[in-house]
Amino acid sequence: MPLNSHNIVILLGTRGSVPVSGEQYLKYGGATLSVFLRLGGTPLVIDCGTGLFSLLPQLAPDERALPVLLSHAHADHLLGLTMAPVMFDEAAQLDIYGAAREGETAERQAGRLFTPPLWPVGISKLPAKTVFHELRPGELPGGISLDVTEGVHPGGVSVMRISGGGKSVVYCSDCCLDEAVFPKIRSFAASCDLLICDGQYTPEEWPTRSGFGHSTWQMASALAAECLARRLRIVHHAPFRSDAELDEMQNSLINIYPGRDFSFGRDGEEIVL
Ligand SMILES: [Zn+2]
Ligand SMILES: [Zn+2]
Repeated sequence: MPLNSHNIVILLGTRGSVPVSGEQYLKYGGATLSVFLRLGGTPLVIDCGTGLFSLLPQLAPDERALPVLLSHAHADHLLGLTMAPVMFDEAAQLDIYGAAREGETAERQAGRLFTPPLWPVGISKLPAKTVFHELRPGELPGGISLDVTEGVHPGGVSVMRISGGGKSVVYCSDCCLDEAVFPKIRSFAASCDLLICDGQYTPEEWPTRSGFGHSTWQMASALAAECLARRLRIVHHAPFRSDAELDEMQNSLINIYPGRDFSFGRDGEEIVL
């Protein structure tokens, strides 16, 4: 693993909605969304799905305090906070930035999941320290700058542009790229080095799932092409989507956009920017 790369993204988890396991998921993986970034040498994490269980080897001993950006508080983006190894590291401090929604801070939103009868142990009881902050555009420690815009998703979602080390990464998961929001996100993501985008569904599935707050992979790739993203990784794979189906979709994607670095993300994939 090129741990010393100044600008690197590791897709810790790429599955959407619920974690899955089984031999049909070995290539793309079954862990829900979590992404590790190191920009200009500064580490940070986006979302805390079960992919967060793979976090720790990437961190140097003096990097146990790191910012975590939460797109929203749906369970598939929080489940890693239950028992991921980093939560049992006494030296770890996660500064979690999330948007207040419907009058509730991100801490209260997340707290609903980690409360009996849904879960026995609150995250504040775990050895790692967690400190919640309001998610706002601006500067984060370590020379990272953050821009935020609202996407289209039940309950709301923060679409984020993270810049540092001369590179920018746009994270647009759990967003229905409908005609109304598409132009806004296209400008927001313009010329980014990497677009990580929700492309959960196929056009055939779309009619029965259009209100679920996700996009088709064609919407995601159209966004990447139109905003001139240098790379695209499609994420939030449907829980029922097998490796074979994702391979087929990947072949179609390459045929539509030959020569572009566009692909379906895989758990553990490392992207050097
Ligand atoms: Zn999700
Ligand atoms: Zn969601």
